[in-house]
Amino acid sequence: MSGPVSTTDVPGEQHTAHSSSPPTVERIESRSTEVGGMAVARALPRRTRRTIGAWCFLDRFEPASPGDPSGMQVGPHPHIGLQTVTWLTEGAVDHRDSLGVNQRIVPRQLNLMTAGHGVSHAEQTPEGSIEPVRGAQLWIALNDDTRSMEPAFEHHAELPQLRAQDLAATVLVGELGAEHSPATVHSPLVGAAVTTFNGTGPGRGSLPLNPLFEHGLVVLEGSASLLGPPGTHPEPLSSHELVYLGLGRDELAVELDPQTQLLLIGGEPFDEEPLMWWNFVGRTWDEISSASDAWEQSTGRFGSVDSPLAPMPAPDLPERARRS
Ligand code: MN
Repeated sequence: MSGPVSTTDVPGEQHTAHSSSPPTVERIESRSTEVGGMAVARALPRRTRRTIGAWCFLDRFEPASPGDPSGMQVGPHPHIGLQTVTWLTEGAVDHRDSLGVNQRIVPRQLNLMTAGHGVSHAEQTPEGSIEPVRGAQLWIALNDDTRSMEPAFEHHAELPQLRAQDLAATVLVGELGAEHSPATVHSPLVGAAVTTFNGTGPGRGSLPLNPLFEHGLVVLEGSASLLGPPGTHPEPLSSHELVYLGLGRDELAVELDPQTQLLLIGGEPFDEEPLMWWNFVGRTWDEISSASDAWEQSTGRFGSVDSPLAPMPAPDLPERARRS
């Protein structure tokens, strides 16, 4: 026979074998790219990891230098089939959308836009702002039950916080331990920003995780290490990677250096096959190409955005889209 030895072959060995297998720690290098004049490190999707729960996109903003005057200048563009989650650690961004919302976001607040069957928005550093924009934007793929829903927007300035030893985890969306975010999401997931409780000093602690979720970690600011079982060395985390932590964990122990902020994401594995192209999350190339046509032809599906910036043209669809 081949394959793993079963408990019937070697009585009593299964527990030993199981407990000695280390939990998943898969490091996935982020890809440096650019969005609206701003450098970003794209942690999701990557070739080897497309989703974590329903999370399907994660850009960590990387301003060129402190005082970089360019900031974020993302002109009107459309979305379908997803929710955008914006979380800043520094600076400010004005969000304007086709629902008529004009909402400035500053650090420690959440902007959550639900695209459903179609929305458009623009994101821009406020005029005269000299602070760099730091933080992240993430997308949550909507499931089949909700992806054609009406678009919506929520801003949350007050979010629940979970304390774990020296750590404080602000729950942006979903749930962490006993804390639930008021933000509206449509699948079992979590997004949380982890700092030390006093905000500036170093510290360590262990966060409660849902073992039915897969999880991932990104360093937004500062530096941190994963703590393993006693006797193992802390594993330093790089700011240019996503650390995939797999399923089945019921806690996560980390040590944060001063001025550090981590982003923890997780969720039940997304069992649908999202097709992502440009700013669209669909299932088929037909859906993607009709969304693209609707944007290019200004059919009204995506409304209009009151923005001084020029709308972004859709890129050409890939060959495989035309063949379908
Ligand atoms: Mn967008």
